[in-house]
Amino acid sequence: MTDPSRFGVYGGRFVPETLMAALEELEQGFRTIVPGNEFREEMKYYLHEYAGRKTPLTFCRNVSRDFGCRVYLKREDLLHSGAHKLNNALGQALLAKFMGKHRLIAETGAGQHGVATAIAGAVLGMQVDVYMGEEDIRRQGLNVSRMKMLGARVLPVSSGSRTLKDAINEALRDWVTNVATTHYLIGSVVGPHPFPTMVRDFQTVIGNETRDQVMEKEGRLPDAIVACVGGGSNAIGIFTPFLGEDTRLFGAEAGGEGPEGRHGATLCRGRPGVLHGTYTYLIQDAFGQILESHSISAGLDYPGVGPEHSFLRDSGRVSYHPVTDREALDAFLYLSRSEGIIPALESAHAVSLAEKVASGLEKDDVLVINLSGRGDKDVAQVASMTGDLL
Ligand SMILES: *Cc1c(COP(=O)(O)O)cnc(C)c1O
Repeated sequence: MTDPSRFGVYGGRFVPETLMAALEELEQGFRTIVPGNEFREEMKYYLHEYAGRKTPLTFCRNVSRDFGCRVYLKREDLLHSGAHKLNNALGQALLAKFMGKHRLIAETGAGQHGVATAIAGAVLGMQVDVYMGEEDIRRQGLNVSRMKMLGARVLPVSSGSRTLKDAINEALRDWVTNVATTHYLIGSVVGPHPFPTMVRDFQTVIGNETRDQVMEKEGRLPDAIVACVGGGSNAIGIFTPFLGEDTRLFGAEAGGEGPEGRHGATLCRGRPGVLHGTYTYLIQDAFGQILESHSISAGLDYPGVGPEHSFLRDSGRVSYHPVTDREALDAFLYLSRSEGIIPALESAHAVSLAEKVASGLEKDDVLVINLSGRGDKDVAQVASMTGDLL
């Protein structure tokens, strides 16, 4: 019998005994509530009526001309909130509500996941507490204000490096203490079972829509799909319905400063180990100490990756490549100017890798890029980095 918590050797549930009951309760809720009609009807309302699904699949004339094949963008940038993270936040928040919880906690680095959780909590009438390192609070003023306006409390974390990993520790501590009333809403396909499976299922709406939309427009499945990989949720969401098909799948990781410098290319340059409750590829030193990651885009700046991606890497089904900060910045400006669409810096990594993938495709081949989010959040950063270049 296969272990449902594993993807090959990866995944699992590496947590202290005190968390096991919470994870088992969550798994039970996920298995019984999510497939039910009542949950599915409610989810349909929140995804479609409220958040604006389905998102368009846009044929890009100018990028197609430049790349030399038929290029489509899956427009998660047009989802309410401006990124795919809301699919998961709404799904988990609704599940928690069905399970009788009235409080959501989350941890956030750049604040994007905190904002998505605050939105879900607001619309579902649930209390939201977001743990955030003091250093990140200082750097991400706009998202801190957004969360507060949406009615969430932002709880500063002053331990350790006062960033994401310290916030994760605080959130776990809170969850253990308050599990009767509280759900810990994890923002990507990471963490202990059932999170990687559950978050994947909530994000697979991206791939299911893409499949129908490409069939409608092209009468066949795409030849290639490209997505960026931080924790890996937008990528697994668009890949999943195509895993059993011939479509070639590509993941763009944060290559950061390049081969000699700091990076977030976990699958390309890391080794397996245990972090945050799961066995997966990690950026670590020779002694197994987790190293600090780096990326121009906050959403790809994580030293781990979802365990299913580790499995897909080893099996060769998905091919992962690093994209440097510089290449992502070029792709950010390229898409803005060629199509009038400002992508998130995370998504710009996928655009950059797509150009390389396209060089091996024919004129009539179909390439889909998952545009995981819009770039408004990155405009000030890019302006300060490019300065006079513009
Ligand atoms: C957070 C984020 C990502 C990275 O997260 P995944 O779980 O890898 O999808 C990518 N794109 C955008 C726009 C994000 O906000």
